[in-house]
Amino acid sequence: MVCMQATFMYGAGDVRVENVPDSVVKLPTDALVRVTASCICGSDLWPYATMPHGAGPARMGHEFVGIVEDTGSQVTTVKKGDLVVAPWLISDGTCEFCKEGLYASCVHGSMWDLQPDEGGQAEAVRVPFADGTLVRIPAGADPALLPSLLTLSDVFGTGHHAAVSGGVTAGSTVAVIGDGAVGLLAVLSARRLGAERIILMGRHKARTDLGREFGATDVVADRGAEGIEAVRALTGGHGTPIVLEAVGTRTAYDQAVGVVRGGGTISRVGVPQYEEAPVGIGSLFFRGVRLTGGAAPTRAYIDELLPEVLDGSLQPGKVFDVTTNLAGVPAGYRDMADRKSLKVLVAG
Ligand SMILES: [Zn+2]
Repeated sequence: MVCMQATFMYGAGDVRVENVPDSVVKLPTDALVRVTASCICGSDLWPYATMPHGAGPARMGHEFVGIVEDTGSQVTTVKKGDLVVAPWLISDGTCEFCKEGLYASCVHGSMWDLQPDEGGQAEAVRVPFADGTLVRIPAGADPALLPSLLTLSDVFGTGHHAAVSGGVTAGSTVAVIGDGAVGLLAVLSARRLGAERIILMGRHKARTDLGREFGATDVVADRGAEGIEAVRALTGGHGTPIVLEAVGTRTAYDQAVGVVRGGGTISRVGVPQYEEAPVGIGSLFFRGVRLTGGAAPTRAYIDELLPEVLDGSLQPGKVFDVTTNLAGVPAGYRDMADRKSLKVLVAG
């Protein structure tokens, strides 16, 4: 049997790269993509921290770019040899939600993380609904752009979703909570949409330095009450009208409630690790704070963001500070969990 390598998580702290049968086209709407570059996501670190042994093994990886190697008979938008970006969500492209760009609500949609036999941290992937899921990159793209193209799969589109959902426009004042890849790209996205003041809340200097390069005007390293006080001190005492929350913990939510200005908007894109949080009189209601964000339909944003990636005017790929190969994936998880690496690119 022909074999390829793929990444499995067996439980917290236990990631292995193993041989699996080659992925192949099974349905007429499938495409087979040979992975050129994938990566480890901050959200992969949640199961890496908490997944019970016995719950796995789970195939890993939901961000990748690659070359189409084969297509089913009904696939029309991509063909063998095309360079494609695979968003972190699988979507049919034809339902009422997809037609509105609401790919996260697709009636036939799914996530790579729920696919038992496929995942981006592998040599190849069978892509369901290839026409509705994949986005073709124009021929001739400079290979040096691959890291930035890869961010369109998830982290750049998610940062952009935070900024768009939060209502960032020219002249906005914004706080961004979190100095991970999504937080930093929320900074870049807010800057791109014209925000004038961007306060980045993070304490990891190398990351906040990149945040400044991406457009942050201020950095607040304090957390909790001190962090809230620091942001309020920078904004005339009332906080920022827009808060982009890119962490996902309850602590980060509380931080967002603390720094948002009355009448303002909290846009959450960090995958919430909690089900309950205050929305009552003292937190959101009396101050008229709006809560938005959610799972990012990144495919909907690729057309808008792609030109500035292709011409090099935006370089979201700078969030990758380490490049490894499939054999290096387990160490990549460890280093990201230990915050030694910001985001690990896995070259195919
Ligand atoms: Zn759909």
